[in-house]
Amino acid sequence: MIYSTHRYLLMTLDPVHIGTGGARLGRVDLSIVREPGTKLPKIPGTSLSGAIRQYAARRYGKPRCAGQGQPREGREGHCAQPTCPICYTFGAITGERSYSGVVSIGDARLLLFPVYSMAGPVWVTSPSALADFGIEEQEVDNDKAKWKGITDQNYLNLGWLMVEKGGDLNLNDLPPAIPATIRERIVLISNPLFSQVVNSNLEVRTSVSINPDTGAAEEGALFTYEAIPRATFLWMDVVVDDHQKAFPITGKQYNPQTGENDDGEALDTTWNSPADVITAGLEWAEHLGIGGMGTRGFGRVRSWEVQQ
Ligand SMILES: [Zn+2]
Repeated sequence: MIYSTHRYLLMTLDPVHIGTGGARLGRVDLSIVREPGTKLPKIPGTSLSGAIRQYAARRYGKPRCAGQGQPREGREGHCAQPTCPICYTFGAITGERSYSGVVSIGDARLLLFPVYSMAGPVWVTSPSALADFGIEEQEVDNDKAKWKGITDQNYLNLGWLMVEKGGDLNLNDLPPAIPATIRERIVLISNPLFSQVVNSNLEVRTSVSINPDTGAAEEGALFTYEAIPRATFLWMDVVVDDHQKAFPITGKQYNPQTGENDDGEALDTTWNSPADVITAGLEWAEHLGIGGMGTRGFGRVRSWEVQQ
């Protein structure tokens, strides 16, 4: 096979704000990136790639190979060595030229989105969101909802919106990584309703600009920003096109009998392929976050590799 696809399920542990970089649009000062057409929020693959590269570079001991690479004052740029797992995986940019990597990280797209209801938190999804993930043939009437359990009532509110039950939900194909307590609280709504419910239940926060010189709050500098709320499930595909198969495995020698190297360290088999570099970076995103507002403890995302 020339290339392989790895699918990751992501769960936000904090609100995640990946901004459009544009000025005020609508009700908030800083809006998040959305998919054209559906208007559903997404996390762009470029943002994910940047964060994953940054964390993986530190874990592999290649800090200069984090970041975007262009050398400038005080920064030497990517090493671009064939022995570098980070440059091999993501590519490299030096002063003279650029090298392409072997992975391509897709956008993270919504699968399950948390909303408050009178019956407690529920997670909404739609036929299209499920089908894009590979779960086909789920249907629901435009103005109705399907669920199983959750409430004995025939109605359920999703935030401010009241919907009528349109049948029992039968959904058995979700990845086991999604906890049972959440999979029992899924509500299926139509594609247009999904977009409406998601966009009216995004987290909107107010923050204050800090003057970098004084460290004090700027007068009158309150601003609002929107974010994907915590406990949202998204997914992304990472395509590995590694036709050379020349990934530079760690230089240390391991004893195949003991599984240890000369220093008595166990072989860490999670470090030996481009896909492992992605996993290594994602593991740190659970603690250090992606994007965010330059604030600590923001944008943390837990991930699992799942079957497609
Ligand atoms: Zn490098």
